[in-house]
Amino acid sequence: MAPRANLILLGPPGVGKGTQAELVVQRLAVPHISTGDMLREARAAGTELGQLAGQYMDAGELVPDEVIVRVALERLQADDCAEGFLLDGFPRTLPQAEALEQALGQIGQEVTAAIDLEADREEIVARLSERRVCRDCQRIFSLRRGEIKEGDRCPECGGELYQRRDDQPEVIRERLRVYEELTAPLIAFYRDRGKLLTIRSDGPPDEVHKLVWASIEEALGSR
Ligand code: AMP
Repeated sequence: MAPRANLILLGPPGVGKGTQAELVVQRLAVPHISTGDMLREARAAGTELGQLAGQYMDAGELVPDEVIVRVALERLQADDCAEGFLLDGFPRTLPQAEALEQALGQIGQEVTAAIDLEADREEIVARLSERRVCRDCQRIFSLRRGEIKEGDRCPECGGELYQRRDDQPEVIRERLRVYEELTAPLIAFYRDRGKLLTIRSDGPPDEVHKLVWASIEEALGSR
């Protein structure tokens, strides 16, 4: 059996993880698993998980580890993960990374590569405050890059575009603070395991994608 591609996208909110993940899964037959999208779907559906997560999300805080670990590990057991996965937004703390390592270890697997996307803080704040998300297809568009104008509908499916509540300036600042405190330590965690790939993500998405794809091919080739 071919080795699986167990990939993680790291990096601060707004660095382009969701956009890059979408581009990667067009070329690699693994699911794009965004815990943020899963929580937003749970909220929209009004489930118990959605209600619990909502208060943390609106404040820019992380949902408790035990909650998100259960959600993520359950998702990774689905049939579509048989050849691997591309995780976006998980793990976000050391306990989450350790739980993932342990769960993969139990099935004789490990993380293939953790791709850390980097961009300057001012760039990130500008990107986040000018991004809009489609309520129907969840695709992300940027006012700043001229992909859409204020008042447009989704260029892909015609759905309504909205600004995430946590993309307001004061929540963005809190999300970045939380990232520095709780998520940035994962860079050292994966570096220590020889799994870290660092990529600058300030250019246009297709340019960044070329770098991301080259590093994924290299990581998959060297297994
Ligand atoms: P995202 O779309 O990845 O920016 O996630 C949006 C929000 O969902 C975050 O600000 C958190 O409140 C919550 N969330 C998503 N993934 C996680 C995670 N791995 N751990 C804790 N909270 C999470």
